[in-house]
Amino acid sequence: MKVCPRCGRTEKEVPFIGYFCRDCYLKEHEVVHVPKRLKILYCPRCERIYTDRWTEFSLETLSEWLRKKIKTDLEGAQLSFSFPEVSEDGISFLYVARGAIEGVPVEVHGEGKIRVEKQLCPRCARESGGYYEAVIQVRGGDFVRMADLVARAVEKEPDRYAFVSKVVERREGIDLYVGSRKAADRVAKKFEKKYGARVVRSHTLVTEKNGKKLYRLTVALHFPE
Ligand SMILES: [Zn+2]
Ligand SMILES: [Zn+2]
Repeated sequence: MKVCPRCGRTEKEVPFIGYFCRDCYLKEHEVVHVPKRLKILYCPRCERIYTDRWTEFSLETLSEWLRKKIKTDLEGAQLSFSFPEVSEDGISFLYVARGAIEGVPVEVHGEGKIRVEKQLCPRCARESGGYYEAVIQVRGGDFVRMADLVARAVEKEPDRYAFVSKVVERREGIDLYVGSRKAADRVAKKFEKKYGARVVRSHTLVTEKNGKKLYRLTVALHFPE
Protein backbone atom coordinates (compact mmCIF):
# COMPACT_ATOMS: atom_id res chain seq x y z
CA MET A 1 0.00 0.00 0.00
CA LYS A 2 1.24 3.47 -0.92
CA VAL A 3 1.98 5.96 1.85
CA CYS A 4 2.57 9.60 0.92
CA PRO A 5 6.16 10.56 1.91
CA ARG A 6 5.07 14.12 2.59
CA CYS A 7 1.89 13.85 4.63
CA GLY A 8 1.79 10.18 5.61
CA ARG A 9 -1.70 9.55 4.30
CA THR A 10 -2.41 6.30 2.50
CA GLU A 11 -3.99 5.23 -0.77
CA LYS A 12 -7.10 4.33 1.17
CA GLU A 13 -7.56 7.92 2.31
CA VAL A 14 -6.66 9.92 -0.78
CA PRO A 15 -6.03 9.33 -4.49
CA PHE A 16 -2.37 9.09 -5.50
CA ILE A 17 -0.43 10.44 -8.42
CA GLY A 18 2.83 8.49 -8.59
CA TYR A 19 4.48 8.34 -5.15
CA PHE A 20 2.56 11.28 -3.72
CA CYS A 21 -1.00 11.80 -2.68
CA ARG A 22 -2.87 14.14 -4.99
CA ASP A 23 -2.63 17.19 -2.69
CA CYS A 24 1.10 16.81 -2.13
CA TYR A 25 1.70 16.08 -5.80
CA LEU A 26 0.05 19.37 -6.69
CA LYS A 27 2.15 21.20 -4.09
CA GLU A 28 5.31 19.69 -5.58
CA HIS A 29 4.42 20.15 -9.23
CA GLU A 30 3.36 23.20 -11.10
CA VAL A 31 0.76 21.84 -13.48
CA VAL A 32 -0.69 25.14 -14.70
CA HIS A 33 1.76 27.49 -16.36
CA VAL A 34 0.74 31.13 -16.36
CA PRO A 35 3.24 33.33 -18.23
CA LYS A 36 5.03 35.72 -15.87
CA ARG A 37 4.37 38.74 -18.02
CA LEU A 38 1.00 38.87 -19.68
CA LYS A 39 0.32 41.92 -21.75
CA ILE A 40 -2.56 42.84 -23.98
CA LEU A 41 -2.81 45.72 -26.43
CA TYR A 42 -5.78 48.01 -26.05
CA CYS A 43 -6.83 50.77 -28.41
CA PRO A 44 -8.11 53.64 -26.27
CA ARG A 45 -9.87 55.21 -29.21
CA CYS A 46 -12.17 52.35 -30.32
CA GLU A 47 -11.77 50.29 -27.11
CA ARG A 48 -10.84 47.13 -29.00
CA ILE A 49 -8.16 44.68 -27.86
CA TYR A 50 -5.60 42.76 -29.86
CA THR A 51 -5.80 38.99 -29.54
CA ASP A 52 -4.61 37.61 -32.85
CA ARG A 53 -6.40 40.50 -34.49
CA TRP A 54 -8.12 43.69 -33.33
CA THR A 55 -11.42 42.68 -31.88
CA GLU A 56 -14.24 43.98 -29.69
CA PHE A 57 -13.48 43.75 -26.01
CA SER A 58 -15.48 41.24 -23.96
CA LEU A 59 -14.72 38.96 -21.04
CA GLU A 60 -15.34 35.95 -23.28
CA THR A 61 -12.77 37.20 -25.79
CA LEU A 62 -10.33 37.82 -22.97
CA SER A 63 -10.90 34.28 -21.62
CA GLU A 64 -10.32 32.79 -25.08
CA TRP A 65 -7.07 34.70 -25.33
CA LEU A 66 -5.95 33.49 -21.87
CA ARG A 67 -6.74 29.89 -22.80
CA LYS A 68 -4.17 30.19 -25.57
CA LYS A 69 -1.56 31.76 -23.29
CA ILE A 70 -1.86 29.43 -20.29
CA LYS A 71 -0.48 25.91 -20.69
CA THR A 72 -1.32 23.00 -18.43
CA ASP A 73 -0.08 19.44 -17.93
CA LEU A 74 -3.61 18.22 -17.35
CA GLU A 75 -5.40 15.64 -19.43
CA GLY A 76 -8.61 17.08 -20.84
CA ALA A 77 -7.85 20.48 -19.33
CA GLN A 78 -10.67 22.97 -18.96
CA LEU A 79 -9.94 26.49 -17.86
CA SER A 80 -12.49 28.93 -16.55
CA PHE A 81 -11.89 32.51 -15.50
CA SER A 82 -13.32 35.33 -13.48
CA PHE A 83 -12.14 38.91 -13.54
CA PRO A 84 -12.33 40.77 -10.24
CA GLU A 85 -10.66 43.83 -11.71
CA VAL A 86 -10.79 45.15 -15.25
CA SER A 87 -9.55 48.61 -16.04
CA GLU A 88 -7.32 50.49 -18.47
CA ASP A 89 -4.54 50.17 -15.90
CA GLY A 90 -4.63 46.41 -15.65
CA ILE A 91 -6.69 43.28 -15.47
CA SER A 92 -6.55 40.71 -12.71
CA PHE A 93 -8.01 37.26 -13.12
CA LEU A 94 -8.73 34.11 -11.15
CA TYR A 95 -8.69 30.75 -12.84
CA VAL A 96 -9.90 27.26 -12.16
CA ALA A 97 -8.25 24.49 -14.14
CA ARG A 98 -9.95 21.12 -14.20
CA GLY A 99 -8.62 17.95 -15.75
CA ALA A 100 -6.72 14.83 -14.78
CA ILE A 101 -3.19 13.61 -14.15
CA GLU A 102 -2.56 9.93 -14.80
CA GLY A 103 -6.30 9.51 -14.77
CA VAL A 104 -6.75 11.14 -11.35
CA PRO A 105 -9.13 14.11 -11.50
CA VAL A 106 -7.61 17.37 -10.27
CA GLU A 107 -8.74 20.94 -9.82
CA VAL A 108 -6.25 23.79 -9.52
CA HIS A 109 -7.04 27.38 -8.55
CA GLY A 110 -4.83 30.36 -9.17
CA GLU A 111 -4.61 33.97 -10.19
CA GLY A 112 -2.77 36.27 -12.51
CA LYS A 113 -2.43 39.76 -13.87
CA ILE A 114 -2.53 41.19 -17.35
CA ARG A 115 -0.78 44.43 -18.17
CA VAL A 116 -2.79 46.65 -20.48
CA GLU A 117 -0.75 48.52 -23.02
CA LYS A 118 -2.45 51.33 -24.86
CA GLN A 119 -1.80 51.48 -28.56
CA LEU A 120 -3.82 52.93 -31.39
CA CYS A 121 -5.02 50.17 -33.69
CA PRO A 122 -4.13 50.66 -37.39
CA ARG A 123 -7.63 51.86 -38.15
CA CYS A 124 -7.59 54.51 -35.43
CA ALA A 125 -4.02 55.48 -36.25
CA ARG A 126 -5.05 56.21 -39.81
CA GLU A 127 -8.26 57.86 -38.75
CA SER A 128 -6.63 60.16 -36.25
CA GLY A 129 -4.07 61.07 -38.89
CA GLY A 130 -6.88 62.25 -41.13
CA TYR A 131 -6.34 59.35 -43.51
CA TYR A 132 -8.69 59.21 -46.47
CA GLU A 133 -9.06 57.52 -49.82
CA ALA A 134 -12.20 59.27 -50.95
CA VAL A 135 -14.13 62.48 -50.56
CA ILE A 136 -17.90 62.44 -50.71
CA GLN A 137 -19.26 65.85 -51.62
CA VAL A 138 -22.83 66.19 -50.44
CA ARG A 139 -24.63 68.86 -52.45
CA GLY A 140 -28.15 70.18 -53.05
CA GLY A 141 -31.37 69.39 -51.18
CA ASP A 142 -31.13 69.30 -47.40
CA PHE A 143 -27.40 68.63 -47.52
CA VAL A 144 -26.85 68.94 -43.75
CA ARG A 145 -29.30 66.15 -43.04
CA MET A 146 -28.13 64.08 -46.00
CA ALA A 147 -24.45 64.41 -44.99
CA ASP A 148 -25.36 62.99 -41.61
CA LEU A 149 -27.12 60.03 -43.24
CA VAL A 150 -24.22 59.48 -45.63
CA ALA A 151 -21.69 59.50 -42.75
CA ARG A 152 -23.74 56.94 -40.87
CA ALA A 153 -24.03 54.75 -43.95
CA VAL A 154 -20.24 54.88 -44.35
CA GLU A 155 -19.66 53.73 -40.77
CA LYS A 156 -21.97 50.77 -41.39
CA GLU A 157 -19.89 49.47 -44.30
CA PRO A 158 -17.88 46.34 -43.44
CA ASP A 159 -14.48 47.72 -44.54
CA ARG A 160 -11.79 48.19 -41.93
CA TYR A 161 -11.31 51.73 -43.16
CA ALA A 162 -14.97 52.58 -43.47
CA PHE A 163 -14.86 55.73 -41.39
CA VAL A 164 -15.22 59.46 -41.82
CA SER A 165 -11.93 61.05 -40.83
CA LYS A 166 -12.82 64.66 -41.53
CA VAL A 167 -15.90 66.77 -42.20
CA VAL A 168 -15.61 70.09 -44.01
CA GLU A 169 -18.56 72.44 -44.26
CA ARG A 170 -18.70 74.56 -47.38
CA ARG A 171 -21.14 77.15 -48.62
CA GLU A 172 -22.39 74.79 -51.32
CA GLY A 173 -22.48 71.62 -49.20
CA ILE A 174 -20.51 69.30 -46.96
CA ASP A 175 -17.39 67.27 -47.77
CA LEU A 176 -16.90 63.97 -46.00
CA TYR A 177 -13.41 62.47 -46.02
CA VAL A 178 -13.69 58.70 -46.06
CA GLY A 179 -11.01 56.12 -45.21
CA SER A 180 -12.08 53.54 -47.77
CA ARG A 181 -12.62 54.21 -51.46
CA LYS A 182 -14.74 51.08 -51.82
CA ALA A 183 -17.00 52.05 -48.94
CA ALA A 184 -17.47 55.56 -50.36
CA ASP A 185 -18.37 54.12 -53.74
CA ARG A 186 -20.88 51.66 -52.34
CA VAL A 187 -22.55 54.32 -50.22
CA ALA A 188 -22.80 56.63 -53.23
CA LYS A 189 -24.59 53.89 -55.16
CA LYS A 190 -27.02 53.37 -52.30
CA PHE A 191 -27.90 57.05 -52.14
CA GLU A 192 -28.24 57.24 -55.88
CA LYS A 193 -30.83 54.48 -55.73
CA LYS A 194 -32.65 55.43 -52.58
CA TYR A 195 -32.74 59.23 -52.81
CA GLY A 196 -32.35 59.81 -56.53
CA ALA A 197 -29.04 61.58 -56.07
CA ARG A 198 -27.08 62.40 -59.22
CA VAL A 199 -23.60 60.97 -58.84
CA VAL A 200 -20.47 62.45 -60.38
CA ARG A 201 -17.24 60.52 -59.89
CA SER A 202 -13.71 61.63 -60.51
CA HIS A 203 -10.35 60.10 -59.73
CA THR A 204 -7.14 61.89 -58.98
CA LEU A 205 -3.77 60.25 -59.01
CA VAL A 206 -2.21 60.72 -55.60
CA THR A 207 1.05 58.81 -55.79
CA GLU A 208 2.75 56.21 -57.85
CA LYS A 209 4.54 53.72 -55.67
CA ASN A 210 6.52 50.79 -57.09
CA GLY A 211 4.56 51.01 -60.28
CA LYS A 212 1.32 50.94 -58.33
CA LYS A 213 -0.92 53.89 -58.91
CA LEU A 214 -2.93 55.21 -56.00
CA TYR A 215 -6.07 57.08 -56.88
CA ARG A 216 -8.25 59.15 -54.68
CA LEU A 217 -11.93 59.09 -55.45
CA THR A 218 -14.08 62.18 -55.32
CA VAL A 219 -17.75 61.44 -55.57
CA ALA A 220 -20.27 64.24 -55.65
CA LEU A 221 -23.81 63.44 -54.60
CA HIS A 222 -26.28 66.03 -55.92
CA PHE A 223 -29.60 65.67 -54.17
CA PRO A 224 -32.77 66.94 -55.81
CA GLU A 225 -34.10 70.19 -54.28
ZN1 LIG B 1 0.45 13.79 0.78
ZN1 LIG C 1 -8.86 51.64 -32.50
